[in-house]
Amino acid sequence: MAPSEFVSRSHILHRSFSDRPAKVVAGDGISLVLESGKKVIDASCGPSVSCLGHSQPEITDAITNHLKNDIAYVYSGSPYTNGATEELADILLSHKPGGLSKAIFVNSGSEATDAALKLAVQYWHERGQPQRTHFIARKQSYHGNTIGALCVSGHESRREFYKDFMSSNVSFLDPCYAYRMKGKSESDEAFAQRLARQFEDEILCVGPDRVAGFVTETVSGTTLGCLPAVPGYFKLIRAICDKYGVLLILDEIICGMGKTGTMHAWQQEDIRGPDIQTIGKALGAGFVPLSGVLLHQKIFDALSAGSGGLAHGHTFQAHPLACAAAIAAQKIIKRDNLVERTAQMGKKLEILLRREIGPLPLVGDIRGRGLFWAVEFVVEKDTKTAFSPRINFCNHVVKQSLEMGLNILGNLGYTGKYQVDHVIICPPYIVTDCELEEIVSRLKAAIVKTSQPFV
Ligand code: PLP
Repeated sequence: MAPSEFVSRSHILHRSFSDRPAKVVAGDGISLVLESGKKVIDASCGPSVSCLGHSQPEITDAITNHLKNDIAYVYSGSPYTNGATEELADILLSHKPGGLSKAIFVNSGSEATDAALKLAVQYWHERGQPQRTHFIARKQSYHGNTIGALCVSGHESRREFYKDFMSSNVSFLDPCYAYRMKGKSESDEAFAQRLARQFEDEILCVGPDRVAGFVTETVSGTTLGCLPAVPGYFKLIRAICDKYGVLLILDEIICGMGKTGTMHAWQQEDIRGPDIQTIGKALGAGFVPLSGVLLHQKIFDALSAGSGGLAHGHTFQAHPLACAAAIAAQKIIKRDNLVERTAQMGKKLEILLRREIGPLPLVGDIRGRGLFWAVEFVVEKDTKTAFSPRINFCNHVVKQSLEMGLNILGNLGYTGKYQVDHVIICPPYIVTDCELEEIVSRLKAAIVKTSQPFV
């Protein structure tokens, strides 16, 4: 692809070399303001990040107050801690959700995944089972772009160049993608049992004493498009993990921190919780880069009784300023009951999407939870035939939406067999009724216009 004139001149290495990216100069509520003056409703919070919108004076004040009155940076690898980090961990964990009782704060979701994998491996070392280094993950999954995170990500195109770097100690199972993978007469229960059997068979094949953990998103985000598992799936997975001592590692970097209508997405799965959980994106509401790993007391106990420390760390880990911003964001979410609001507004979004977008000819499936929804496109509804990847239909919808003043996220997921051509709509928790109607109306117009050459 030939670089655009702008991209050639820019000293930033842009992700796409062909497009000229629109320059954003300000935020206004849930909208982005472009250099041209045009306002774009951010209906996907970037990649599911800016859950409180783009202008939030309380967070700006918290950041400036922190800089005036507290420490901007202190290295948490030295014998220090800081008030903001301790307070944020208290906010998230003082009630010990699912037995999760300790936190590590890092800068990105990929770092959180790497830390989660390393914690699992360290845990087994401390427990006298150092041979447990194998992870089971799922096809067409995404847990981050660092090499460690890519090792457990079944995202073929992101892995492609780096395959020789990847650990072979990972196996990939089918995702819980009912729209295409559930048999015509198969019940949700039978489908969940089939996938659970596959999981147990894989543990037995690798050897239960070699498997460190099972890594999965609770609600799949960018690869499979806001895909919750069928009811009962996670109960079966949790039971099999318990049977063989395999750690359940849930990635809630994109789907967690309130987005699905509960603080943690696993709280809707009738399980006691994961052993290790990653969080990110909405944690700092996009005002700061911040992600984290939450771990069960049993992981801490093993490390504590063993080497007595964490064999992992980063320079900017537990950054006080980032934690101060996240405290402000989490306090607003709690004070304004925004998680409950997300569940309520999510019902409204679902109704609008199903009514306005569902009947469009190239729309195959609409799915999601809370304020985290996707629309999957197909060439033909009845056969569920996917678009060819060369067409990249979702990308055209994203571009058309931008023309219409709407930002959404488009992804071409690939399961190994199917193209999961979809767009994600996950507006901020503060979205109003009117804004939801406007989002769906603009989305509909963009899909209709993009569809014209294909229908
Ligand atoms: N895990 C999931 C589920 C994600 O969606 C992402 C990013 O999109 C990551 C991990 C990686 O996060 P980051 O881009 O902050 O490294």
